[in-house]
Amino acid sequence: MLSTLNDFKQYFNLTEEEIEEAKKVIDTFPVRCTEYYASLANRNNLNDPIKKTVFPTEEELKNTLSDDPFKEEGQSPIPGLTHKYPDRVLIVTTNYCPVLCRFCMRKRNWKKEPFVITKEQIDEMAKYIKVTRVRDVLISGGEPLTIPDEILEYLILKLKEIETVEIVRIGSRLPVVAPNLLTNKKIKILEKGEKVWLNTHFNHPAEVTKGSEEAVKKLLKAGIPVNNQAVLLKGINDNEETLYKLFSTLQRIKVRPYYLFRCDPVNSVFHFATSVEKGLEIMRNLKKRLSPLALPYYAVDTYKGKIILFPEGAKYSKTGKGYLFKIANTKVSLP
Ligand SMILES: *Cc1c(COP(=O)(O)O)cnc(C)c1O
Ligand code: SF4
Repeated sequence: MLSTLNDFKQYFNLTEEEIEEAKKVIDTFPVRCTEYYASLANRNNLNDPIKKTVFPTEEELKNTLSDDPFKEEGQSPIPGLTHKYPDRVLIVTTNYCPVLCRFCMRKRNWKKEPFVITKEQIDEMAKYIKVTRVRDVLISGGEPLTIPDEILEYLILKLKEIETVEIVRIGSRLPVVAPNLLTNKKIKILEKGEKVWLNTHFNHPAEVTKGSEEAVKKLLKAGIPVNNQAVLLKGINDNEETLYKLFSTLQRIKVRPYYLFRCDPVNSVFHFATSVEKGLEIMRNLKKRLSPLALPYYAVDTYKGKIILFPEGAKYSKTGKGYLFKIANTKVSLP
């Protein structure tokens, strides 16, 4: 595990200026990375996407936005549980992550004492989920798959018992940053849960390795559908070719691209944001090159919920005889 700037020097090609800058940041926002993830960096590339994901810059100290713009904490009927959509709740199970991504939207939790959800908290949440007849439970963090297996199993089996719960989605970056930590024991627990899906977070094709592919294969074999939620990040993946490669590669390893989010307006994170139009332009171009099966929803998140910008609704008109659709500068009529 890399947790000091000296550790980072072993894996990344860092200039003196970069190290000096990082020194100013780490008291506020620490560094952490797995050896596996750091080893994916190309030392000859000063703009390496892996390095940009984990190595701090002074920009993190310059933003003056909110730490929690979507009021996740304000909309908690129970601490750690956010209920924003009638049928779905989000549970924060820990604030620990084996890799600290500089663009993390829950960076506010890094400063808190390390916490892991307890069985008592799980019981209380389960009661709430039962009475509100929630259908879909998102298990988030931090990295939820780092909580002790015993607690993970307790949580998964608790949710399995609740009849109204049809889907349990785990948001985990382990297949990307530490596929070796996704042990057979953990996968067995998820398999036992029967309702479990896994949403992971690949942002760049350089993150897709033999190791991550193997981890995904094991999940799929256990009947766990794997989807991907990427973030559009300035200087990391905000161009058509990188995203073409990312989405096509994910499809090859049977991970369905689900979302591409614009970077959230969160304090110390927003310097990674692109314009909203940039993502839309990229997605419109990718639509000409990839099947919808390889294209994610492009969305922005707000305190009111997510807003989907892509795919865009097709324009059509109703005629006396039927419908008139526009496609590639021509019109097609259908009864
Ligand atoms: C994103 C999110 C969800 C799930 O939204 P989907 O669009 O169904 O993926 C649920 N609750 C909260 C609080 C969220 O932020
Ligand atoms: S893995 Fe997810 S929760 Fe953890 S630091 Fe990265 S973005 Fe944040």
